[in-house]
Amino acid sequence: GAMITTTGGHGDFRPLTDIPRTTGEVSAQERTGANAIADSADEVRLRVREQFLQGATQIKIVGAGGVSTPRSPLDMLTFTEQQLRAAVETAGDWGTYVAVHAYTSEAVKRAVAAGAQCIEHGHLMDDHAAEIMAKNGTWLSTQPFVNEDDVGPLAGPILDKFREVIVGTNNMYKLARKHGLKVAFGTDLIFSPAVAARQGLMIGNMTRWYNGSEILRMVT
Ligand SMILES: [Zn+2]
Repeated sequence: GAMITTTGGHGDFRPLTDIPRTTGEVSAQERTGANAIADSADEVRLRVREQFLQGATQIKIVGAGGVSTPRSPLDMLTFTEQQLRAAVETAGDWGTYVAVHAYTSEAVKRAVAAGAQCIEHGHLMDDHAAEIMAKNGTWLSTQPFVNEDDVGPLAGPILDKFREVIVGTNNMYKLARKHGLKVAFGTDLIFSPAVAARQGLMIGNMTRWYNGSEILRMVT
C-alpha cells in the first residue's frame, strides 16, 4: 500500500504545480498508490483505513524527512504524536501495526511514544532513542548503507542526504547491539529492479556488525 505522509514530508513527491491543493482533493501522485498525504488525525485514520481496505497487512507512516524526497530535510518532523497515535490505534483495530520512517532521535522517540512497533531506518538516532526502543520492544528495520552507490547512482541534494545517512550507519548498528534491539534487514532498494540485485552486497556488509549466523537469521 501507500506510505502515508504529511504535506511536505518524505514521500510527498508532488510537482509544485499541484500546490496548493484544495482540502479533500487527491493528487495525481497519490492516485498511483505510492503515497497518501494526510494533515490531521482524521485524515490519517481515513488514509490508513483505505490501505487496509485495499489489502495492506501493515502501515508505513512517514515520521520525518527522507533521502529520496529532495525537499524534505532529514531532521524535519511530520506528524504530531497524536496524529501518529491515530494511525497506531487504527492499525490496532485491524489487528496489525504501524512502522514509522524515521532517521533522527526526535523522530524515533515520537514514534515510539505514539506506540509504533517498528522504526524504519533509524540511522541518525542516539543512545537515548535506542534505549527507549529497547524498553518498548520496538523493532528496528534498517539498511547497512556504507557506500554512496548502495542504492544506485545518486546526485544533488539526494546524495548529500544519503551521505549523512551513511555516516550514521556504524553508530546505529553499534547502538542496536549495545541495547539488544530486534533488528530486521531491509534494503530500501525500491525504484529499480537492477539495483535490487545489490541486496547480496548489502548482506555482505552486515559482517561489520554481526556474525554469519546472526546475519542469516536476520535476512531470512
Ligand atoms: Zn523510509
